[in-house]
Amino acid sequence: MGIWMEFRCENRDKPNAYTSYDNECWSYQNHGAMEMANDSSASVLRILKIMEKQSLKAGWAKIKGKWYCPHCKPLITAKSEKMAEK
Ligand SMILES: [Zn+2]
Repeated sequence: MGIWMEFRCENRDKPNAYTSYDNECWSYQNHGAMEMANDSSASVLRILKIMEKQSLKAGWAKIKGKWYCPHCKPLITAKSEKMAEK
């Protein structure tokens, strides 16, 4: 048995995740890192680390332990900075 793994953006359910077809959350187009792991926790962990590297290279960001796609990352970053100003 294999285990399918795919990164999904944490912001994908929010209204600002969609602007237009060409400007939307990458998870709407299933454009996250995706790989097949073997049926063992060691394989899942190894593939997860590979996917983390792929995601960072593609422009994703891990913010407070959650992954955001390149479309949503600036929205989250701007919100964080706004909250920090208060
Ligand atoms: Zn997104």
